Amino acid sequence: MTATVAIVGAGLGGLTLARVLAVNGIGTTIYEAEPSAEARTQGGQLDIHPHNGQRALEDAGLTEAFRAIIHHGAQAARALDQHGAVLLEKADDGALSRPEVLRGDLRRILISSLPAGTIQWGKKLTGVAALGAGRHELSFADGTSVVSDLLGGADGAWSKVRPLLSDAKPAYVGTAFIETYLHDADVRHTAAAEVVGNGAMFALSPGKGIVAHREAGGVLHAYIQMNRSPEWIAGIDFSDAAAAKARIATEFAGWAPALTALITESDTALAPRLIHALPDAHRWPRLPGVTLIGDAAHLMAPSGEGANLAMFDGAELAKAIAAQPDNIEAALAAYEEPMFTRGATEAEGARFILDLCVGDRAPYGLVDFFTGKLGQG
Ligand SMILES: Cc1cc2nc3c(=O)[nH]c(=O)nc-3n(C[C@H](O)[C@H](O)[C@H](O)COP(=O)(O)OP(=O)(O)OC[C@H]3O[C@@H](n4cnc5c(N)ncnc54)[C@H](O)[C@@H]3O)c2cc1C
Repeated sequence: MTATVAIVGAGLGGLTLARVLAVNGIGTTIYEAEPSAEARTQGGQLDIHPHNGQRALEDAGLTEAFRAIIHHGAQAARALDQHGAVLLEKADDGALSRPEVLRGDLRRILISSLPAGTIQWGKKLTGVAALGAGRHELSFADGTSVVSDLLGGADGAWSKVRPLLSDAKPAYVGTAFIETYLHDADVRHTAAAEVVGNGAMFALSPGKGIVAHREAGGVLHAYIQMNRSPEWIAGIDFSDAAAAKARIATEFAGWAPALTALITESDTALAPRLIHALPDAHRWPRLPGVTLIGDAAHLMAPSGEGANLAMFDGAELAKAIAAQPDNIEAALAAYEEPMFTRGATEAEGARFILDLCVGDRAPYGLVDFFTGKLGQG
Protein backbone atom coordinates (compact mmCIF):
# COMPACT_ATOMS: atom_id res chain seq x y z
CA MET A 1 0.00 0.00 0.00
CA THR A 2 1.52 3.32 -1.01
CA ALA A 3 -1.37 5.57 0.03
CA THR A 4 -0.73 8.37 2.51
CA VAL A 5 -2.65 7.53 5.67
CA ALA A 6 -3.31 10.48 7.99
CA ILE A 7 -4.83 10.07 11.45
CA VAL A 8 -6.00 13.14 13.34
CA GLY A 9 -5.75 12.73 17.13
CA ALA A 10 -3.38 10.75 19.36
CA GLY A 11 -5.98 9.63 21.89
CA LEU A 12 -6.42 5.93 22.64
CA GLY A 13 -8.39 5.43 19.40
CA GLY A 14 -5.92 7.08 17.01
CA LEU A 15 -2.91 5.47 18.69
CA THR A 16 -4.44 1.99 18.46
CA LEU A 17 -5.30 2.56 14.80
CA ALA A 18 -1.70 3.57 14.02
CA ARG A 19 -0.23 0.71 16.05
CA VAL A 20 -2.35 -2.05 14.48
CA LEU A 21 -1.62 -0.63 11.02
CA ALA A 22 2.09 -0.66 11.89
CA VAL A 23 1.84 -4.29 13.07
CA ASN A 24 0.42 -5.01 9.61
CA GLY A 25 3.24 -3.18 7.87
CA ILE A 26 1.27 -0.02 6.99
CA GLY A 27 2.84 3.32 7.86
CA THR A 28 0.83 6.34 9.04
CA THR A 29 1.24 9.81 10.44
CA ILE A 30 -0.78 10.99 13.43
CA TYR A 31 -1.40 14.74 13.66
CA GLU A 32 -2.02 15.72 17.28
CA ALA A 33 -2.93 19.17 18.60
CA GLU A 34 -1.15 18.78 21.95
CA PRO A 35 2.45 20.03 21.85
CA SER A 36 3.91 16.84 23.37
CA ALA A 37 3.04 13.52 25.01
CA GLU A 38 3.47 15.12 28.43
CA ALA A 39 1.52 18.33 27.72
CA ARG A 40 -1.58 17.30 29.66
CA THR A 41 -1.96 14.89 32.58
CA GLN A 42 -4.01 11.98 31.32
CA GLY A 43 -6.19 11.51 34.40
CA GLY A 44 -8.46 8.68 35.24
CA GLN A 45 -8.47 4.96 35.62
CA LEU A 46 -10.14 2.85 32.95
CA ASP A 47 -11.36 -0.73 33.20
CA ILE A 48 -10.43 -2.55 30.05
CA HIS A 49 -13.02 -5.04 28.84
CA PRO A 50 -12.28 -8.45 27.32
CA HIS A 51 -14.63 -8.09 24.33
CA ASN A 52 -13.33 -4.73 23.07
CA GLY A 53 -10.39 -2.99 24.81
CA GLN A 54 -8.45 -6.17 25.55
CA ARG A 55 -9.06 -7.53 22.04
CA ALA A 56 -7.71 -4.32 20.56
CA LEU A 57 -4.59 -4.54 22.71
CA GLU A 58 -4.12 -8.13 21.56
CA ASP A 59 -4.36 -7.01 17.92
CA ALA A 60 -1.78 -4.36 18.82
CA GLY A 61 0.56 -7.04 20.21
CA LEU A 62 0.54 -5.24 23.56
CA THR A 63 -1.10 -7.74 25.90
CA GLU A 64 2.09 -8.27 27.93
CA ALA A 65 2.76 -4.54 28.22
CA PHE A 66 -0.87 -4.04 29.28
CA ARG A 67 -0.64 -6.72 31.99
CA ALA A 68 2.37 -4.93 33.43
CA ILE A 69 0.38 -1.72 34.08
CA ILE A 70 -2.71 -3.27 35.74
CA HIS A 71 -3.72 -1.78 39.08
CA HIS A 72 -4.40 -5.00 40.99
CA GLY A 73 -7.27 -5.11 43.49
CA ALA A 74 -9.10 -2.18 41.89
CA GLN A 75 -12.06 -4.16 40.56
CA ALA A 76 -13.88 -3.97 43.93
CA ALA A 77 -17.12 -1.94 43.88
CA ARG A 78 -19.55 -0.67 46.47
CA ALA A 79 -22.81 1.26 46.39
CA LEU A 80 -23.81 3.48 49.30
CA ASP A 81 -26.72 5.69 50.15
CA GLN A 82 -26.13 9.34 50.97
CA HIS A 83 -25.64 8.56 54.65
CA GLY A 84 -22.84 6.15 53.83
CA ALA A 85 -24.88 2.99 54.49
CA VAL A 86 -23.57 0.14 52.34
CA LEU A 87 -26.20 -1.13 49.91
CA LEU A 88 -23.90 -3.43 47.96
CA GLU A 89 -20.30 -4.57 48.33
CA LYS A 90 -18.40 -6.53 45.70
CA ALA A 91 -14.86 -7.62 46.43
CA ASP A 92 -12.26 -7.83 43.68
CA ASP A 93 -12.37 -11.52 42.78
CA GLY A 94 -8.82 -11.39 41.43
CA ALA A 95 -10.04 -12.83 38.13
CA LEU A 96 -8.84 -9.79 36.18
CA SER A 97 -11.88 -9.90 33.90
CA ARG A 98 -12.01 -6.10 33.68
CA PRO A 99 -8.61 -4.90 34.91
CA GLU A 100 -8.10 -1.26 35.79
CA VAL A 101 -5.25 0.76 34.34
CA LEU A 102 -4.35 4.44 34.33
CA ARG A 103 -5.19 6.16 31.05
CA GLY A 104 -1.74 7.79 31.05
CA ASP A 105 0.01 4.39 31.35
CA LEU A 106 -2.07 2.96 28.50
CA ARG A 107 -1.34 5.94 26.30
CA ARG A 108 2.37 5.64 27.13
CA ILE A 109 2.65 1.98 26.05
CA LEU A 110 0.82 2.76 22.81
CA ILE A 111 2.98 5.80 22.04
CA SER A 112 6.23 3.94 22.71
CA SER A 113 5.10 1.04 20.48
CA LEU A 114 4.93 3.27 17.39
CA PRO A 115 7.77 3.74 14.93
CA ALA A 116 9.73 6.91 15.69
CA GLY A 117 8.29 10.01 14.06
CA THR A 118 4.76 8.56 13.65
CA ILE A 119 3.24 11.31 15.79
CA GLN A 120 3.55 14.94 14.76
CA TRP A 121 2.85 16.94 17.92
CA GLY A 122 1.55 20.52 17.89
CA LYS A 123 -0.50 19.94 14.73
CA LYS A 124 -3.96 21.29 15.45
CA LEU A 125 -6.29 20.58 12.55
CA THR A 126 -8.29 23.68 11.63
CA GLY A 127 -9.88 22.63 8.35
CA VAL A 128 -10.24 19.82 5.82
CA ALA A 129 -11.02 20.21 2.12
CA ALA A 130 -12.11 17.38 -0.16
CA LEU A 131 -9.94 17.23 -3.30
CA GLY A 132 -11.89 14.44 -5.01
CA ALA A 133 -11.09 10.73 -5.48
CA GLY A 134 -10.96 10.26 -1.70
CA ARG A 135 -8.08 12.72 -1.21
CA HIS A 136 -8.23 15.47 1.41
CA GLU A 137 -6.17 18.52 2.24
CA LEU A 138 -5.65 19.00 5.96
CA SER A 139 -4.82 22.49 7.22
CA PHE A 140 -3.21 23.08 10.60
CA ALA A 141 -3.13 26.04 12.98
CA ASP A 142 0.61 26.48 12.38
CA GLY A 143 -0.10 27.35 8.73
CA THR A 144 1.08 24.03 7.27
CA SER A 145 -1.01 21.55 5.28
CA VAL A 146 -0.79 17.95 4.02
CA VAL A 147 -2.76 15.80 1.58
CA SER A 148 -4.12 12.39 2.60
CA ASP A 149 -5.27 9.43 0.51
CA LEU A 150 -6.96 8.00 3.59
CA LEU A 151 -8.05 10.13 6.56
CA GLY A 152 -8.97 8.68 9.97
CA GLY A 153 -10.74 11.18 12.22
CA ALA A 154 -9.77 10.19 15.80
CA ASP A 155 -10.04 13.73 17.14
CA GLY A 156 -12.60 13.13 19.87
CA ALA A 157 -15.78 14.85 20.98
CA TRP A 158 -15.31 18.09 19.04
CA SER A 159 -13.91 16.46 15.91
CA LYS A 160 -12.91 18.78 13.07
CA VAL A 161 -13.07 15.82 10.65
CA ARG A 162 -16.69 14.90 11.52
CA PRO A 163 -18.34 17.81 9.60
CA LEU A 164 -17.06 16.26 6.34
CA LEU A 165 -19.35 13.30 6.99
CA SER A 166 -22.22 14.48 9.15
CA ASP A 167 -24.08 17.53 10.43
CA ALA A 168 -24.55 15.97 13.87
CA LYS A 169 -23.30 17.97 16.84
CA PRO A 170 -22.81 16.84 20.43
CA ALA A 171 -25.64 17.93 22.74
CA TYR A 172 -25.53 18.42 26.52
CA VAL A 173 -27.12 15.38 28.23
CA GLY A 174 -28.19 17.42 31.26
CA THR A 175 -25.58 16.12 33.71
CA ALA A 176 -22.33 17.76 34.76
CA PHE A 177 -19.43 15.78 36.23
CA ILE A 178 -17.26 17.82 38.58
CA GLU A 179 -13.87 16.22 38.95
CA THR A 180 -11.84 16.12 42.19
CA TYR A 181 -8.58 14.43 43.24
CA LEU A 182 -7.44 13.57 46.77
CA HIS A 183 -3.77 12.59 47.00
CA ASP A 184 -1.99 10.42 49.58
CA ALA A 185 -5.47 9.52 50.75
CA ASP A 186 -4.66 6.84 53.35
CA VAL A 187 -2.59 9.38 55.29
CA ARG A 188 -4.19 12.75 54.51
CA HIS A 189 -7.85 11.90 53.76
CA THR A 190 -8.55 8.83 55.88
CA ALA A 191 -12.35 9.12 56.13
CA ALA A 192 -12.72 9.55 52.36
CA ALA A 193 -10.23 6.71 51.73
CA GLU A 194 -12.26 4.41 53.95
CA VAL A 195 -15.60 5.28 52.39
CA VAL A 196 -14.26 4.72 48.85
CA GLY A 197 -12.65 1.36 49.72
CA ASN A 198 -10.32 -0.46 47.33
CA GLY A 199 -12.06 0.10 44.01
CA ALA A 200 -15.10 2.04 42.82
CA MET A 201 -17.67 3.70 45.09
CA PHE A 202 -21.10 4.93 43.99
CA ALA A 203 -23.09 7.13 46.42
CA LEU A 204 -26.18 8.11 44.47
CA SER A 205 -29.50 9.88 44.83
CA PRO A 206 -32.02 11.18 42.29
CA GLY A 207 -30.42 14.11 40.46
CA LYS A 208 -26.98 13.92 42.04
CA GLY A 209 -24.31 11.57 43.25
CA ILE A 210 -20.70 11.11 44.20
CA VAL A 211 -18.74 8.46 42.30
CA ALA A 212 -15.11 7.79 43.16
CA HIS A 213 -12.31 5.39 42.32
CA ARG A 214 -9.21 4.50 44.22
CA GLU A 215 -6.37 4.81 41.76
CA ALA A 216 -2.83 3.50 42.02
CA GLY A 217 -0.57 5.40 44.45
CA GLY A 218 -3.19 6.22 47.12
CA VAL A 219 -5.15 8.61 44.87
CA LEU A 220 -8.92 9.08 45.16
CA HIS A 221 -10.49 10.39 41.95
CA ALA A 222 -14.11 11.49 42.19
CA TYR A 223 -16.81 12.68 39.85
CA ILE A 224 -19.50 14.73 41.54
CA GLN A 225 -22.46 14.16 39.23
CA MET A 226 -25.26 16.73 39.12
CA ASN A 227 -28.27 17.26 36.89
CA ARG A 228 -27.92 21.00 36.41
CA SER A 229 -28.21 23.47 33.56
CA PRO A 230 -25.06 24.80 31.86
CA GLU A 231 -26.06 28.25 33.19
CA TRP A 232 -26.11 26.97 36.77
CA ILE A 233 -22.62 25.50 36.35
CA ALA A 234 -21.40 28.68 34.62
CA GLY A 235 -22.63 30.68 37.61
CA ILE A 236 -19.95 29.13 39.84
CA ASP A 237 -16.49 30.66 39.81
CA PHE A 238 -14.33 27.54 39.63
CA SER A 239 -11.17 29.68 39.58
CA ASP A 240 -11.91 30.43 43.26
CA ALA A 241 -11.19 26.87 44.41
CA ALA A 242 -12.31 27.27 48.03
CA ALA A 243 -15.56 29.02 47.17
CA ALA A 244 -16.37 26.48 44.44
CA LYS A 245 -15.83 23.55 46.83
CA ALA A 246 -18.06 25.19 49.44
CA ARG A 247 -20.75 25.94 46.84
CA ILE A 248 -20.86 22.38 45.48
CA ALA A 249 -20.73 20.90 48.99
CA THR A 250 -23.88 22.85 49.99
CA GLU A 251 -25.73 20.81 47.34
CA PHE A 252 -24.84 17.73 49.38
CA ALA A 253 -25.90 19.10 52.79
CA GLY A 254 -26.92 16.25 55.09
CA TRP A 255 -24.74 13.68 53.27
CA ALA A 256 -22.16 11.72 55.26
CA PRO A 257 -19.07 13.91 55.95
CA ALA A 258 -16.78 11.13 54.60
CA LEU A 259 -18.60 11.49 51.26
CA THR A 260 -18.60 15.28 51.13
CA ALA A 261 -14.87 15.16 51.98
CA LEU A 262 -14.47 13.99 48.37
CA ILE A 263 -15.51 17.57 47.47
CA THR A 264 -14.19 19.73 50.28
CA GLU A 265 -10.79 18.00 50.65
CA SER A 266 -9.93 17.94 46.95
CA ASP A 267 -6.24 18.64 46.42
CA THR A 268 -6.99 20.01 42.98
CA ALA A 269 -9.36 22.79 41.95
CA LEU A 270 -12.78 21.41 41.04
CA ALA A 271 -12.97 20.79 37.29
CA PRO A 272 -16.50 20.91 35.82
CA ARG A 273 -17.26 18.81 32.73
CA LEU A 274 -20.56 19.20 30.93
CA ILE A 275 -21.33 15.76 29.54
CA HIS A 276 -22.25 15.78 25.85
CA ALA A 277 -23.36 13.03 23.46
CA LEU A 278 -23.99 12.58 19.74
CA PRO A 279 -27.40 11.22 18.66
CA ASP A 280 -27.61 7.53 19.66
CA ALA A 281 -27.65 6.05 16.17
CA HIS A 282 -25.22 8.51 14.60
CA ARG A 283 -24.16 7.34 11.12
CA TRP A 284 -23.29 8.78 7.72
CA PRO A 285 -23.31 7.76 4.07
CA ARG A 286 -20.02 6.35 2.76
CA LEU A 287 -17.73 9.14 1.63
CA PRO A 288 -14.52 8.22 -0.22
CA GLY A 289 -11.24 8.32 1.69
CA VAL A 290 -12.42 9.29 5.17
CA THR A 291 -13.96 7.77 8.29
CA LEU A 292 -14.21 8.37 12.05
CA ILE A 293 -13.36 6.31 15.13
CA GLY A 294 -14.04 6.63 18.87
CA ASP A 295 -15.69 9.73 20.30
CA ALA A 296 -15.56 11.46 16.90
CA ALA A 297 -17.95 8.76 15.64
CA HIS A 298 -20.10 8.00 18.67
CA LEU A 299 -19.59 10.36 21.62
CA MET A 300 -21.71 9.12 24.52
CA ALA A 301 -22.14 9.76 28.25
CA PRO A 302 -19.44 8.04 30.32
CA SER A 303 -20.47 4.41 30.89
CA GLY A 304 -17.08 2.72 31.11
CA GLU A 305 -17.11 1.87 27.39
CA GLY A 306 -15.88 4.96 25.51
CA ALA A 307 -12.13 4.35 25.69
CA ASN A 308 -12.64 0.63 25.12
CA LEU A 309 -14.72 1.35 22.03
CA ALA A 310 -12.22 3.88 20.69
CA MET A 311 -9.42 1.30 20.88
CA PHE A 312 -11.64 -1.39 19.40
CA ASP A 313 -12.66 0.90 16.51
CA GLY A 314 -9.00 1.68 15.87
CA ALA A 315 -8.04 -2.00 15.73
CA GLU A 316 -11.05 -2.97 13.60
CA LEU A 317 -10.41 -0.20 11.09
CA ALA A 318 -6.72 -1.12 10.86
CA LYS A 319 -7.54 -4.80 10.28
CA ALA A 320 -10.14 -3.91 7.64
CA ILE A 321 -7.55 -1.82 5.77
CA ALA A 322 -4.87 -4.51 6.12
CA ALA A 323 -7.30 -7.12 4.75
CA GLN A 324 -7.83 -5.22 1.50
CA PRO A 325 -5.19 -2.49 1.18
CA ASP A 326 -5.90 -1.99 -2.50
CA ASN A 327 -9.62 -1.43 -2.03
CA ILE A 328 -9.90 1.28 0.59
CA GLU A 329 -13.58 1.96 -0.03
CA ALA A 330 -14.51 -1.68 0.59
CA ALA A 331 -12.32 -1.65 3.72
CA LEU A 332 -14.00 1.49 5.08
CA ALA A 333 -17.48 0.06 4.39
CA ALA A 334 -16.54 -3.21 6.11
CA TYR A 335 -15.36 -1.25 9.16
CA GLU A 336 -18.25 1.21 9.34
CA GLU A 337 -21.35 -0.99 9.32
CA PRO A 338 -20.53 -3.01 12.47
CA MET A 339 -19.15 0.16 14.12
CA PHE A 340 -22.49 1.97 13.57
CA THR A 341 -24.31 -0.96 15.16
CA ARG A 342 -22.07 -1.23 18.22
CA GLY A 343 -22.00 2.55 18.64
CA ALA A 344 -25.81 2.70 18.66
CA THR A 345 -26.07 -0.17 21.16
CA GLU A 346 -23.49 1.30 23.51
CA ALA A 347 -24.99 4.79 23.28
CA GLU A 348 -28.30 3.39 24.47
CA GLY A 349 -26.45 1.55 27.23
CA ALA A 350 -24.72 4.78 28.26
CA ARG A 351 -28.05 6.59 28.67
CA PHE A 352 -29.33 3.68 30.73
CA ILE A 353 -26.28 3.73 33.05
CA LEU A 354 -26.47 7.52 33.50
CA ASP A 355 -30.15 7.18 34.39
CA LEU A 356 -29.34 4.50 36.98
CA CYS A 357 -26.78 6.89 38.51
CA VAL A 358 -28.69 10.18 38.61
CA GLY A 359 -32.25 9.32 37.53
CA ASP A 360 -35.27 8.67 39.74
CA ARG A 361 -34.30 5.08 40.56
CA ALA A 362 -31.06 6.09 42.31
CA PRO A 363 -29.49 4.58 44.34
CA TYR A 364 -31.40 1.29 44.09
CA GLY A 365 -31.43 0.99 40.29
CA LEU A 366 -27.67 0.57 40.12
CA VAL A 367 -27.73 -1.94 42.98
CA ASP A 368 -30.37 -3.99 41.16
CA PHE A 369 -28.32 -3.74 37.98
CA PHE A 370 -25.14 -4.93 39.74
CA THR A 371 -26.99 -7.87 41.30
CA GLY A 372 -28.63 -8.83 38.01
CA LYS A 373 -32.19 -7.97 39.14
CA LEU A 374 -32.43 -5.20 36.55
CA GLY A 375 -31.52 -5.71 32.91
CA GLN A 376 -30.96 -3.02 30.33
CA GLY A 377 -34.09 -2.02 28.43
C1 LIG B 1 -15.68 12.19 32.78
C2 LIG B 1 -15.40 11.06 31.84
C3 LIG B 1 -15.09 9.79 32.34
C4 LIG B 1 -14.85 8.73 31.47
N1 LIG B 1 -14.56 7.49 31.98
C5 LIG B 1 -14.35 6.45 31.14
C6 LIG B 1 -14.06 5.15 31.64
O1 LIG B 1 -13.98 4.93 32.85
N2 LIG B 1 -13.88 4.14 30.75
C7 LIG B 1 -13.95 4.34 29.39
O2 LIG B 1 -13.77 3.37 28.62
N3 LIG B 1 -14.21 5.57 28.89
C8 LIG B 1 -14.42 6.62 29.72
N4 LIG B 1 -14.70 7.85 29.22
C9 LIG B 1 -14.79 8.02 27.75
C10 LIG B 1 -13.41 8.12 27.13
O3 LIG B 1 -12.66 9.13 27.78
C11 LIG B 1 -13.52 8.45 25.63
O4 LIG B 1 -14.55 7.70 25.03
C12 LIG B 1 -12.19 8.15 24.93
O5 LIG B 1 -11.15 8.94 25.45
C13 LIG B 1 -12.32 8.40 23.42
O6 LIG B 1 -11.06 8.21 22.82
P1 LIG B 1 -10.75 8.92 21.44
O7 LIG B 1 -9.37 8.46 21.07
O8 LIG B 1 -11.87 8.70 20.50
O9 LIG B 1 -10.76 10.48 21.76
P2 LIG B 1 -9.89 11.34 22.76
O10 LIG B 1 -9.39 10.54 23.90
O11 LIG B 1 -10.70 12.55 23.06
O12 LIG B 1 -8.62 11.76 21.90
C14 LIG B 1 -8.74 12.71 20.86
C15 LIG B 1 -7.37 13.28 20.56
O13 LIG B 1 -7.50 14.17 19.46
C16 LIG B 1 -6.81 15.37 19.74
N5 LIG B 1 -7.46 16.44 18.98
C17 LIG B 1 -8.68 17.00 19.21
N6 LIG B 1 -8.93 17.97 18.30
C18 LIG B 1 -7.85 17.99 17.47
C19 LIG B 1 -7.52 18.79 16.34
N7 LIG B 1 -8.36 19.75 15.89
N8 LIG B 1 -6.34 18.57 15.71
C20 LIG B 1 -5.49 17.60 16.15
N9 LIG B 1 -5.75 16.83 17.25
C21 LIG B 1 -6.91 17.02 17.89
C22 LIG B 1 -6.93 15.55 21.24
O14 LIG B 1 -5.92 16.41 21.75
C23 LIG B 1 -6.79 14.11 21.72
O15 LIG B 1 -5.45 13.75 21.94
C24 LIG B 1 -14.92 8.94 30.07
C25 LIG B 1 -15.22 10.20 29.57
C26 LIG B 1 -15.45 11.26 30.45
C27 LIG B 1 -15.80 12.64 29.88
